[in-house]
Amino acid sequence: MPLRLLINGSKGRMGREIAVTATDLGLAVVAAVDLGDDLAAGIAQADAIVDFSSAHATRPLLELAVARGKPVVIGTTGHAPEEKRALLALAARVPCVWAGNYSVGVNLLYALTRRAASVLGADYDAEVVEMHHRFKKDAPSGTAARLLEIILAERQLTAESLRHGRQGITGERQPSEVGIHSLRGGDVVGDHSVIFAALGERLELTHKASDRGIFARGALRAAQWVVAQPAGVYDMQDVLGLK
Ligand code: NAD
Repeated sequence: MPLRLLINGSKGRMGREIAVTATDLGLAVVAAVDLGDDLAAGIAQADAIVDFSSAHATRPLLELAVARGKPVVIGTTGHAPEEKRALLALAARVPCVWAGNYSVGVNLLYALTRRAASVLGADYDAEVVEMHHRFKKDAPSGTAARLLEIILAERQLTAESLRHGRQGITGERQPSEVGIHSLRGGDVVGDHSVIFAALGERLELTHKASDRGIFARGALRAAQWVVAQPAGVYDMQDVLGLK
């Protein structure tokens, strides 16, 4: 029997992409819910809920999932840090995958960045460069922020080491600096590069997204995985066995 899904945010860019991809993969979309629809109406038939909607939707969605014991995949972003902490505690009562980026390639980039930062050590200057379309409203991207967190953690540095762009007489680069540079333009879906540069060699790890279908495929891989897990909050590193 194919996995049966409820998609929340079904009329959005991601919701529509997920519905098409699910059908391609032979999964069944038994309920498509968007703003103003009754979320509870189709939940009984669903094996799992996939949510790419808005941050306001997450609490009622999780409360319902917990009440009905349904596994959840959360792709929605934009929760305030305190709000997210409370939501994660709620989400832990059902099997839940929660990731800010469902691309399999980006999640492998996280793992490779951790490994490179550890093997190469502090002698290799680390810089992150990201580029997104001209409509993006925030910088750096959430994915770049995650890459920076990984580098800082691996090098036991704090956010004070971050250098957001450089301008003027900055002085020589300090070994503890981690640079972040955000480029904006055109219709770029999302490029991320992590550069490790030493005297004599440079390693660059680059991921380029060209189609939002990668997020849909990753989220559906997460949905197929999470239905077999015990209650708890997981991320894509768990789904892909990268931990
Ligand atoms: P979108 O604006 O195209 O679609 C959002 C949809 O959600 C709309 O149809 C809207 O009507 C609906 N919606 C809003 N509030 C709702 C509610 N309370 N209940 C049900 N539906 C509601 O946005 P999008 O590009 O599809 O992105 C949706 C979310 O997914 C955003 O938070 C975005 O940042 C996130 N996103 C995450 C990833 C990832 O990999 N984690 C990838 C892409 C987008």
